[in-house]
Amino acid sequence: MSEQNIVNNLKNVHKRIIDAAANSGRNNREIILLAVSKAKSIDDILTAYQFGQRHFGENYVQEALEKIYKLEQYAIIWHFIGRIQSNKAQAIAENFAWVHTVDSVKHAKLLNQYRPKNLPPLNVCIQVNVSNEANKAGVRADELMDLAGQIRQLPQLTLRGLMAIPKFSIYIEEQKASVQALRILADLLIGRGYNMDTLSIGMSKDLEIAVAEGATIVRVGTAIFGKREVNDDSK
Ligand SMILES: *Cc1c(COP(=O)(O)O)cnc(C)c1O
Repeated sequence: MSEQNIVNNLKNVHKRIIDAAANSGRNNREIILLAVSKAKSIDDILTAYQFGQRHFGENYVQEALEKIYKLEQYAIIWHFIGRIQSNKAQAIAENFAWVHTVDSVKHAKLLNQYRPKNLPPLNVCIQVNVSNEANKAGVRADELMDLAGQIRQLPQLTLRGLMAIPKFSIYIEEQKASVQALRILADLLIGRGYNMDTLSIGMSKDLEIAVAEGATIVRVGTAIFGKREVNDDSK
């Protein structure tokens, strides 16, 4: 995609976030735009960076590592948003600042074990399967408390909040319900003394609904960088 298109798209997404925040009485500074750059080039990332974008999300470790190394001199905050595989836990723990997709004690422990001691703790979110879809990553609501409790014991991880990839629905009420479900679970944890500040939910098509219901990180790919030909596991 051309530089001009990416810049225009970013401006448009900023406006969508600002408007959605204003409409729900929120301060748009509470909301981080995570630019999802999977399947997109280094040049595309740099175009967004030069326009001020700092948070980038990647789903595939191999692809991400190449970008991270090549962009080492830039102040990019890298977020891992793909499925975690045990044999990639070390690379994830060493190279990312955030991981949004923790959904097992096993993976949490591996990330903790491999997070280098000279780096700040890894920021993690627990992925919740809010639409209760079979075969979907994420814990069920009834598994959440246990996982959160275990993560709290791990010194190299900081539990920042919850993340979900709700099933897309054309019905606004259904989309709303997914975000609300995530928010209720987060509030439950906060009520139990968890110091969390993050709800990672909302993508290109539904960021307005997510922002209205309390999202603090929206993960936007297509609306910034255009359609992806390959590597799409967001559905
Ligand atoms: C790809 C992806 C996104 C971005 O999706 P778009 O619809 O392109 O905005 C967000 N979150 C996750 C977990 C993804 O895999």
